[in-house]
Amino acid sequence: MKLGTLFKDAWDALFSEAATEPYPNPHPDETERLRGRLRWNPEGCTGCSLCVKDCPAAAIDIFVLDKKAKQFVMRYDIGRCTFCGQCMQSCRFDCWQAANDDWSLAATTANGFVEYYGKEEDIERVLAGPVTDDPVKV
Ligand code: SF4
Ligand code: SF4
Repeated sequence: MKLGTLFKDAWDALFSEAATEPYPNPHPDETERLRGRLRWNPEGCTGCSLCVKDCPAAAIDIFVLDKKAKQFVMRYDIGRCTFCGQCMQSCRFDCWQAANDDWSLAATTANGFVEYYGKEEDIERVLAGPVTDDPVKV
């Protein structure tokens, strides 16, 4: 980079509006541009597992309890998620959404960083032990 360009960029940066937002004070409840915790909506999910395969961080797993009955449990590891949005891109049925009102996720322990989405009884079944007929994840 030429010295003149460097000074011009520095000069422009000094007098332009900040591209970042102040944090933690103020601490906005909602953000416009930030992707927060991902939420999974089972409506429309076909159990195709495309989102699982495309996730570059191996942050999600799907447990297929009964594909015909559309009985799925989704496991989401917030600690692994990079919030890249690939799962939202991959899903043709808009099952994944990034919450902009749940984004301040720092914690001092890993407890609570793994979430299970699905019907309560299905989650209990997954947590109880391996789902043997699950083609995607056991
Ligand atoms: S890509 Fe969408 S439809 Fe396929 S398993 Fe993931 S959430 Fe379900
Ligand atoms: S946002 Fe990216 S890292 Fe997080 S679950 Fe989706 S695909 Fe994986």
